[in-house]
Amino acid sequence: MFDALSHLYTSTAPRAALEAGRAAGVHNVLLAGENEAGWSAQSALAGPSVHLAYGYHPWHTAGAIDAEILAAALPRLSEPVAIGEIGLDGSGRHRERLATQEAAFLAQLDLARQRDLPVVLHIVRAHGAALACVDRCQAPPGIVHGFSGSSEVAEEWLRRGFLLSFGHLVCNKQAKRARIAASQVPLERLLVESDSPGGFESPAGINQVLASLSSLRSEPVAVLMRETAANARRLLRLQP
Ligand SMILES: [Zn+2]
Repeated sequence: MFDALSHLYTSTAPRAALEAGRAAGVHNVLLAGENEAGWSAQSALAGPSVHLAYGYHPWHTAGAIDAEILAAALPRLSEPVAIGEIGLDGSGRHRERLATQEAAFLAQLDLARQRDLPVVLHIVRAHGAALACVDRCQAPPGIVHGFSGSSEVAEEWLRRGFLLSFGHLVCNKQAKRARIAASQVPLERLLVESDSPGGFESPAGINQVLASLSSLRSEPVAVLMRETAANARRLLRLQP
């Protein structure tokens, strides 16, 4: 299995949590970035089954300067397979900083395009603006992580070549909108994530996500395990 998004480097015992994931069958993990301090911690965990994406998360952005800091840091970090998390968050108090977030997002999308790397997006209550940014930058496709939008919004991302990643939200029966979207995404565009240590404690949590997805869709768990892992490998250009 492939966990398409984790921040385990922020936990106190990341190696133990990665091991717990492996014991539960999760052999590959994408560690997505948040800020400069986290990038070094991520880089230290790199390995054949631990893949890296660096970026300034929308909660931690300072503006366009973020892309310059990231570009300058890349040579001293383990090789990334993607740029992220980057994006826009229009929920709660984050909404006031949307202009700053957008400047950082555009600059980092541009960096991804220059480096020809896929992007890992965090988009909450800002899908229209985020789609406009992606169109403007002609950024390479990637992953919309923790997807919680409607089927109509999902369709817009799919049209642009993106994959949609689902996490703990689809295990919650109240999360009707996300569960409907998850039931409709074409199999070849579907990913699963633990968002550990926030969503689940370890990558092992994607077993629960896969079970929920199987109950919402027509495929058995084994097929979802195999295909979501193949999708992640294809997008991140990893050897099969
Ligand atoms: Zn996120």
